[in-house]
Amino acid sequence: MTVNTTLIAPGAEAYDTALAQFDRATSILKLPTGVIEFLRLPKREYTFNFPVQMDSGETKIFTGYRVHHNIVLGPSKGGIRYSPHVNLNEVRALAMWMTWKCALMQLPYGGAKGGVVVDPHQLSARENEMLTRRFASELVPVISPHIDIPAPDMGTNSKTMAWIMDTYSMTVGYSVPAIVTGKPLNIGGSEGREEATGRGVIIIMDEALKRKGLYEPEKSRLIIQGFGNVGSHAALHAIEKGYQVVGISDVGGGVYDPNGLDIKELYTFTRSGHMLADYDQPGVEHVSNKELLELDCDVLIPAALEGQITERNAGRVKAHLIVEGANGPTTPIADEILRSRNITLVPDILANAGGVTVSYFEWVQDLQFFFWDEVEIMRQLTRILHKAYDRVVRFAEEKDVDLRTAAQAYAIDRVAQATITRGFYP
Ligand code: NAD
Repeated sequence: MTVNTTLIAPGAEAYDTALAQFDRATSILKLPTGVIEFLRLPKREYTFNFPVQMDSGETKIFTGYRVHHNIVLGPSKGGIRYSPHVNLNEVRALAMWMTWKCALMQLPYGGAKGGVVVDPHQLSARENEMLTRRFASELVPVISPHIDIPAPDMGTNSKTMAWIMDTYSMTVGYSVPAIVTGKPLNIGGSEGREEATGRGVIIIMDEALKRKGLYEPEKSRLIIQGFGNVGSHAALHAIEKGYQVVGISDVGGGVYDPNGLDIKELYTFTRSGHMLADYDQPGVEHVSNKELLELDCDVLIPAALEGQITERNAGRVKAHLIVEGANGPTTPIADEILRSRNITLVPDILANAGGVTVSYFEWVQDLQFFFWDEVEIMRQLTRILHKAYDRVVRFAEEKDVDLRTAAQAYAIDRVAQATITRGFYP
């Protein structure tokens, strides 16, 4: 097999991946060079260095970022990540993917992302709150319900969003629920938001299996990398639909049972503070994250972080379908290897778009002070995901390209056409 390495910028960094994907997608579009160059770059980037008083009394300085990649279609939207690996290039990549994801889903948003370089597991609850509130006050000048609307991502959750919402509201002097999405229900959160990304992954997986003529849930064995918000809700929704989840993992490693894992028990186990490495049941084998991705299964759902399927393991993936719950889990060279092996890959900007879609519902509800029930949320989410899936498949057939290139090209073209319609100011 020959692999076109000219696609790859040096290293498998997330931003290299995002740019290589962008270049591939724009190569099938006929867009003016100036527009391509404009869309390839982030609009604005902020770096914040800020102090937090730790429980020991010591003051530590943390670094945080917020990148607004593009705001042509509306205010920018994207999560906030807490991880020791956060860096500006990663945030740039994640912000760019948010632009394409929102455009693909036809949401009135641009793309953004933020993060703080911190391991949230090393913080006490008080330190986490102090860090979040200080970061939120640093963000005040650059966010608003009409400028940029944060949400949870890796290492953050609804509690983090509650602190950001409260800090912003205290600063401006009135309550602003629409400043963030993914909040708790009792302060303007939406029904279904917590589960939305994971459920969306499974809704999209169903469509992909139907199109391949392989929709037989009880015969399909799933492996899911990551058992946080996205991975756990994908697993729970999958077993509800009759699928077998045979492998899952967290940062410390994975568990595998070819006869199917007890996902509800594992959910309760991990939510009470345990790592999967501590789970001990007859028939359950412990595996590393590396091994997990190469185990026998029908569908592989990476739902942890970027750069997991690479040139090193893409040749050994056993699944016939990959549904990207995480953002950027597959490098461009791995994409090529998977294509050459006829493994179908449903890209992140489509597969995990359930989260931002319900975030959009939450923002709309907050702005209107009028709330929908869960049945309505799920009905609208399913309708929007099905339509997006159809759009991508039709575009891929029309252009004779893979699903990632189709999804990105469709989305990029939407932002490009809006840019051209608006014209460049002045
Ligand atoms: P999370 O923090 O809730 O969970 C992350 C999971 O990944 C945890 O189980 C963690 O232990 C595991 N993990 C961390 N590092 C790992 C490593 N090196 N190897 C294997 N596992 C590791 O995060 P999340 O919100 O579930 O996000 C997961 C992915 O989904 C990220 O790529 C995120 O950008 C993407 N995503 C999240 C949402 C959302 O609504 N939360 C929406 C769209 C996309």
